[in-house]
Amino acid sequence: MGMIIKIPPEVRGILMRLKRAGYEAYAVGGCVRDSLLGDKPQDWDICTSALPDQTRACFDHCVLTGVKYGTVTVLRGRNSYEITTFRAEEGYSDSRHPEQVRFLDSLYEDLARRDLSINAMAADADGLVTDHFDGLHDLRHGLIRCVGEAEQRFTEDALRILRALRFAARFGFTIEPRTAHAIHALKDSLLKVSPERIRKELKGLLMGKAAVEILSEFSDVLAVILPELQPCMGFEQHNPHHIYNVYTHSLHTLAQVPSTEPLRLAALLHDIGKPACFTLDEAGIGHFYGHSEKSFELCDRLLHRLHYDNKTISHVCTLVQIHDLMLEPISEKRARRLLSKYGEPMLRDLISLRRADALATGTADPEELEHSLAQFSELLDRLLVQEGRFTMADLDINGNDLLSMGLPRGRQIGQLLHVLFDSVLEGICENQKEKLVEYARFLLSKKDFH
Ligand code: ATP
Ligand code: MG
Repeated sequence: MGMIIKIPPEVRGILMRLKRAGYEAYAVGGCVRDSLLGDKPQDWDICTSALPDQTRACFDHCVLTGVKYGTVTVLRGRNSYEITTFRAEEGYSDSRHPEQVRFLDSLYEDLARRDLSINAMAADADGLVTDHFDGLHDLRHGLIRCVGEAEQRFTEDALRILRALRFAARFGFTIEPRTAHAIHALKDSLLKVSPERIRKELKGLLMGKAAVEILSEFSDVLAVILPELQPCMGFEQHNPHHIYNVYTHSLHTLAQVPSTEPLRLAALLHDIGKPACFTLDEAGIGHFYGHSEKSFELCDRLLHRLHYDNKTISHVCTLVQIHDLMLEPISEKRARRLLSKYGEPMLRDLISLRRADALATGTADPEELEHSLAQFSELLDRLLVQEGRFTMADLDINGNDLLSMGLPRGRQIGQLLHVLFDSVLEGICENQKEKLVEYARFLLSKKDFH
């Protein structure tokens, strides 16, 4: 008696439809793996012996989405399901894309082309699992293993190297020795993979629960895609506040920030400028003056190279740039300025990064740390309740008001608005029209204001 998984009614409906038309059809890949692990699958992929046109003829609402690969997408209510004809991929001359696909009529060969044993299982309409490559065994034992010969599979498609690391990090699995050996041996072929595909896998890898273990064991692989990190690996800090080298410290930081893509990236990259800024004083203590700015530069270059979107680049780079900003003790005036300059989401992320960074030195007193960070975050809460995020647009006076006070059009208006904005931030003037008009008159009466 084999393993049985639960097939949702919509999926069962699709599988039964194909079966009644005389074809084989199965749920396959990630959905079977996740069901066996007791996780809810993100989507249900289906494979079938029907050719794309035959699949299309079975369903009213469907679109041909991947002509070349034989994928038909069937729409059911709010959900969509990808149905792909059994296939094999042939001729990977560039380690990236199969040259052509060949449609097959056997499930076995379709499973054989898949990357990892845990991703190479299928289930029929009754949920009965087909497992030709010991996927169940590897799931039970927490193992990442290639289907077939690891070296050959990574040579066909180098992205599988990162996929193996990503799944290991996500599930906390171990990469079995032969697969691990092939990964180390073939890591340089990742240079041929497009930035977009790397970025997607890297995200999953960094956000995985076992990211730190995998990034330690496979630091050489990470150095291929993020060469800027290479100098950090093994770089000793010679500082009594740090017990770890720069790379290990960065990984510990990563492990302690919440699992969002920008925070994980910022944690990994916040100190990449350190090796370039290292100095040793007479007492033999290491310093890294200006490293935040250097890290910022390297980080900006790295994220652009991997084609991250501008929003992510700017958020991550700013976090890296300000990760060492003095926050304790913090005055209300300063907090208000920071809030206005960076906005709330950035400062909340900064607090998470600071906590993780301090804990990852290996020498911080957690209680003391929580206390001082709590002070900053409570101050933010208070300011946000009182006034929300305050920007120039929120100033209760505008250019037209100043014009009607008799000021000439031109540069002076803008300058005066900035001075008024600063006065509100500093608590010199209330953000209220009459008060601001009055204060503007006062400023204009002073001779040195042009
Ligand atoms: P996730 O939950 O992350 O989507 P998944 O297993 O569904 O996990 P996908 O990237 O959606 O992963 O791929 C679907 C299936 O296609 C995989 O389970 C695997 O069987 C196969 N697959 C995907 N990419 C490759 C690849 N590069 N080489 C071989 N097989 C692959
Ligand atoms: Mg998927």
